[in-house]
Parts: sequence; C-alpha cells; structure tokens
Amino acid sequence: TNFWSAVPQGPADPILGVTDAFKRDASKHKINVGVGECAYRDEDGKPWVLDSVRKAEDILHEQRSDKEYLPITGLANFLTLAAKLAYGADSKPLAENRIAVVQSISGTGALRIGMEFLASFYKGPHTIYLPDPTWGAHPAIAEKANLAVKRYRYFDRKNIGLDFIGMKEDLQNAEEGSVILLHACAQNPTGVDPTKEQWKELSDLIKAKKHLAFFDMAYQGFASGDVDRDAFALRYFVEQGHQIMLCQSFAKNLGLYGERAGTFSMVTSSPEEKERVLSQLKRVIRPLYSSPPLHPAQLVATILGSPELYQEWLGEVKKMADRIIAMRSTLYDKLVALQTPGNWDHIKTQIGMFSFTGLTPEQVDALAKSAHIYMTKDGRISMAGLNEHNIDYFATSVSKAVK
Ligand code: PLP
Repeated sequence: TNFWSAVPQGPADPILGVTDAFKRDASKHKINVGVGECAYRDEDGKPWVLDSVRKAEDILHEQRSDKEYLPITGLANFLTLAAKLAYGADSKPLAENRIAVVQSISGTGALRIGMEFLASFYKGPHTIYLPDPTWGAHPAIAEKANLAVKRYRYFDRKNIGLDFIGMKEDLQNAEEGSVILLHACAQNPTGVDPTKEQWKELSDLIKAKKHLAFFDMAYQGFASGDVDRDAFALRYFVEQGHQIMLCQSFAKNLGLYGERAGTFSMVTSSPEEKERVLSQLKRVIRPLYSSPPLHPAQLVATILGSPELYQEWLGEVKKMADRIIAMRSTLYDKLVALQTPGNWDHIKTQIGMFSFTGLTPEQVDALAKSAHIYMTKDGRISMAGLNEHNIDYFATSVSKAVK
C-alpha cells in the first residue's frame, strides 16, 4: 500500500525561488540580495564565523565536558547571561528575580514557546497583532499555537517609512488586552523602526489599552552596532512596568544561525509567580523537544561569561553593523551621484540587514533579466549581499532600471 499518494505538493518558498534563479545564472556579475534566511556576508560575500565564537569553541574542546541532557529550561549560566544582555545589568525585575527565562531553539523556537504559553494561560483575547509586513514565519507560528492573527499597519509604502498614525489607530482600535508583537529593533523586512519618542508613545498607548507587548528581538547589536542602544525599546517598556514577553535570538548577532541558540522570557510580578510560570513553560517544552541543545548554550555562555571574549564579541557585532551601515551610505551616495530619479533617503535611514528599496515588481524583474541581480518581488534587498566589489555595478544597474 502507498499511504501518501494524496499528499499535495506544498507551495514553494518565494525567497528560496530567488536563490534558485541566482544559482542558475552563469553571469560573473550576478548578485543575490534576496538572501533567504537573512544571514550576514563579509566583504567578500562569504559567511563569517566570528573569532570570539572560534575561540569559545576551542575552550569548549579543551574542556572535554560530558554530553548529559540539559534541564528542560536549559543551561542555567547561559540563561543568566542572556537575560542580562537583553534586559541590561541594572534591570529591576532581573535584580528582583522575577523574570522567567528558558532556553529555546533560537528565535523561532522562542516564538513558539511564547505563543503556546499564551494559548494556554493568557486571560485576554487570543489574538496576536502582527505588523504589516512582518517576518514570514510569524503568522504560521501563531496559527500553529492556535492564536488568531490580525495585522496592524506598519509600513507606509508611499513614503517608504513608518505609518505611525496608522499603527497607533490600529493598536487603539484593537480589543483591549490584545497581544501586540513588536520587533525590538531592525524590523524585518522593512528596516524601518519607530524613533525613541515614538516608542514612548507606543508604550503609553499599549499600557492604556492593557495590551500585552510581545517582543521579538532577533537583531540586538546588529542594527546599530551597540547592544544597549538596540535594546532601548524592550528596556523602556520594562521600566514602564509592562509585563513583556521576549523572544531572543543569537543567530545574527553571534553569527550562530545553525547552532540554534536563543531564549524565551517573560516579566512576572514576583519570584513566586515566576516559579509558577516556569513550571508551565516546562510543560510547553517537554512534549515539543524535551530539552534544548547543549552546545549552543555552552558557546554563548562562554563568550558572554568571559570579559575578554565578551569585549571581542562587542567589537565584532559592531564590525558587522558598521559594514552594513557603510554599504547603505555608499549605495545612497552612488544612486544620488548617478542622478537616479526619486528620493533615496530611506536607504540610509533604514536599519539592520534589510532595505525596502521601493523598486516595483517590474523593476525587480528587469534587474534580474538584464543585470543578473536577484531580489524578492517586493523590492526588499539584504544589504549584507553588497560589498566593495559589487556595489558600483549594483548602484549603476538599479539607477538604469529606475530611469
Ligand atoms: N524573528 C525575526 C524578526 C527574524 O528575522 C528571524 C530570523 O530571520 C527570527 C525571528 C528567527 O530566527 P532564528 O530562529 O534563526 O533565531
């Protein structure tokens, strides 16, 4: 018997399609700025393993530690260091021992744990509001956890910036107590973040509406080059007394993509409540994957826990962020020098790996056909795909496509 003849072909991932087309192209000029899983590339277009990570691997290799299972909640030392990085060393709820933290399978796993916990224990509406647009996996993760998905306006396509008025209107009109997913920094895919003043307004609005702020922080340090600056929104909300939830990923800022290091955490009102919450988070994790992987937690703990490696890592995050920021400013200068029609300010003001260029689907097609440049249909580019070797060609081709 064949049990599987009725299994339909699943839809192709639109981003991976871009990479396939890139691979098939034989031109030596070809550029892929579609990079599916949002990974950093160095000045030669190659993946980069951080020196601090290599050194931590050497230390772990020397230690010859055993491979016993971790507890369901993960490696204790890792959790302490990771929470300190996110919330800040002087965080009040951290000092008061009322943040529940568990290790997760990177940011994606954290999202799933958090949303499953909401589905089981949240007293408010089981509706999560996602920004429009947002990272492609968010709606599917929410749906798997049985949360209803709604959108709030985020991106103003016309002005290529934040639709702050639309965003506030939608959050204001959402049912009281809704769950609001916020990208802590470097919004994926737009690269558009609220300003500090706007975050403050959002905090007031979300508090007045008794909404729950659910932060996804996949790019701490990677956006501005400064881990504290990128944690501003999260820490501000916590200071303002929001009982936030947080998904933390080490994929980008430590370049640990395939290692799957991350945490899920939530601010509670007391150490006793924290213990109750942790006991239920364990019940979410146990039937999913039992306990988290050992090696990524050891790696991160070794780096964050060693003053020398920590300093070295801070320098490396800054180096990655600075390279991206430099590419933005070079691209902007070149587009302007080429007298490309339109306003290109957003290339410089957007933050993080991505940029919504404002290119139309027709221009995106034309760039692929005539210039061997590949990006997603919505005109989003990954700045990490650009470097000193290809930026001239890229800017000239984009300029031509727009003219
Ligand atoms: N959240 C956002 C906004 C992302 O962009 C990503 C990755 O691209 C993730 C979460 C999760 O990544 P990971 O599971 O690799 O940590």
